[in-house]
Amino acid sequence: MTEEIWDVIIVGAGLSGLSAAHLLKKRNDKLKILVTEAKDRVGGRTVTSEIPAANGVDRWDFGGQWVGSTQPHVLELIKELGIETYRQFTDGKKVYHMGGPNAKVRIGEGRLPALSLLGLMDLAQLYWKIETLSATICVEDPSKSPNAFELDSMTVQTYLDQHAWTTEVKEQMAMCSRPLFGLEPSQMSFLYFLMYAATAGGLLPLLESNEGSGQELKLKGGTQQLSKGLAERIGWKNVQLGAAVTAIWQDAEYAKVMTATNTYLCRAVIVTCPLNLAGCPFSGDEVPFAARVCLHIPLNDWVMLFVFHFPHTSNSQRDGKCLCAMRKVQSEKIMEIGKPLAEGYHRCDSQAFWKEKGYSGEIATGSSTNCPFTVTFDASTPYGSPALVGFIAGKQANEWSSKEVGERRDAVVSRLVKYLGPEAASFIHYEEKDWAKEPYSGGCPVNVMVPGALTYYHPSLKSPCGRYYSVAQSAYRSLIVVAVIMPSLIHISPVLKKWQKVNRIHWASTETATSWCGYMTGAIQEGQRAAREVLAKLCPNALTQEDKEAAQESQTIKQKQPSKLSFLPSIKTLVLAAVAIGAAVLLAQNPDALENAKTCDKMVLQ
Ligand SMILES: Cc1cc2nc3c(=O)[nH]c(=O)nc-3n(C[C@H](O)[C@H](O)[C@H](O)COP(=O)(O)OP(=O)(O)OC[C@H]3O[C@@H](n4cnc5c(N)ncnc54)[C@H](O)[C@@H]3O)c2cc1C
Repeated sequence: MTEEIWDVIIVGAGLSGLSAAHLLKKRNDKLKILVTEAKDRVGGRTVTSEIPAANGVDRWDFGGQWVGSTQPHVLELIKELGIETYRQFTDGKKVYHMGGPNAKVRIGEGRLPALSLLGLMDLAQLYWKIETLSATICVEDPSKSPNAFELDSMTVQTYLDQHAWTTEVKEQMAMCSRPLFGLEPSQMSFLYFLMYAATAGGLLPLLESNEGSGQELKLKGGTQQLSKGLAERIGWKNVQLGAAVTAIWQDAEYAKVMTATNTYLCRAVIVTCPLNLAGCPFSGDEVPFAARVCLHIPLNDWVMLFVFHFPHTSNSQRDGKCLCAMRKVQSEKIMEIGKPLAEGYHRCDSQAFWKEKGYSGEIATGSSTNCPFTVTFDASTPYGSPALVGFIAGKQANEWSSKEVGERRDAVVSRLVKYLGPEAASFIHYEEKDWAKEPYSGGCPVNVMVPGALTYYHPSLKSPCGRYYSVAQSAYRSLIVVAVIMPSLIHISPVLKKWQKVNRIHWASTETATSWCGYMTGAIQEGQRAAREVLAKLCPNALTQEDKEAAQESQTIKQKQPSKLSFLPSIKTLVLAAVAIGAAVLLAQNPDALENAKTCDKMVLQ
């Protein structure tokens, strides 16, 4: 054990951990802070890789990639680090394939999915209901939302079965659920789903790629720069990589954090592991209540991200040099980002073939189509390297994960040929990342709550916790001894105990964010929230007015009014009511109808 005493140890060098460290350092540079990270890199669920591409080696995000203009925390960091953003390409035709392998492939344009007229009407009424309900959710503590228990007792699928009119829309919603959560609608609490949407300002911002939505902008050079930039600011010497925390416990004076090589003493700990891993460093009666939630979180059925790099078709057909150049780059990996290929090789045109053909690169498929991927998007970089990014998620992931990578790649390519044309077959490179197999990430992209978990555990998920007692602990122990002799003291001992309780363990991860829960911006919000909690204890004078207001804001529970919608009838009730009203109108117009019907019945019986 090192004798050195740290002010704060932060477990995890993802965006929440590094943002916490950054704010602590900004407010009080004298604080001794150590970030311990299990992986050999920073960034957690964000990772940017260099891949040989059409215009030289380029960078792609294999984890979190999009940000939006309604995400203040991440935008502020992007600005501070001087990173440029660019818009997600969405212009052109979108491909929809739902309803089975032989169903017609539909082409849509604009924001509406290519559904039938009835499907569109159904989707509109369903979205309206979900948006109205999500506006009633109290994001600071979902268990305080109107009808919270009822909403948390059902799955998203239960709600869809009751309120969607058509199978088409149920399939559409399942298709949306897979890339968003890596799970099926039958696997998650409806309250959790509504809360998730509420933190993003509604369901549509989660699904769309236009202004203000979650898929609006990308970062030039990738999102892992955010974590690297933060690590630079707090000092790389304060970030220990390859140091998985195996145990955390507290005693009267300090919290203790153990890794394979050391045990650190500190005055406060911020645990930023994804919630389903947050219980790992605790054992026996040390497991805090909040960490027990890890037993209720499913590992998202593995999600894969793949990237293709297409040369410009007409160029490669013209002289065939693009592919040769790529093979050379692939073997040597000598190119700098965005720099042209070595002399003598042809530089590919930046235009992707699907853009030339008027496609946006967006493809959405249902699980019944036998297609491995759920969605794809254009992922061409600003340096002119054409690519597509896709997700294999939920049911599709479950079906395809056990197959060989070559089989998956061939199936993916043959589907791209079917949807976008034969040019898709001449890809340069194929990459996958299996997030369910990534250690210390707990699945992808976010920990999702099953029915019952949110109302049971929230808000303990972010309340600091502790079992031990500070300086007055020995006095407290003596009091207990005296209390045994003098029973009247028993009445005041719990009061004293409460006063002396020290909560040294703090929690932060995107999973508890009130602004874009599950997203990078949410991780930053939560890291900063935990840092303020720690500052308030260790050096309250370092808190700025802005910090105090933010802390006050995060503690204020904004109660919402129940929606009248909760009491609106389901579609089955509406149909029954319509039949009943129709029959009543018929009877009113023809009062003898009932008598005639009875007479007919009698005649039939005779
Ligand atoms: C494939 C994918 C796509 C995504 N797409 C988007 C997107 O487009 N936009 C968006 O905003 N968000 C997206 N996200 C989500 C986003 O990446 C996360 O919300 C965010 O990065 C989470 O940050 P975090 O700090 O809360 O958690 P993490 O990034 O998971 O950080 C936690 C850290 O704790 C470490 N750790 C765990 N256990 C231990 C231990 N015992 N000891 C020490 N360290 C430990 C982990 O290694 C990790 O580095 C995506 C995520 C994935 C995986």
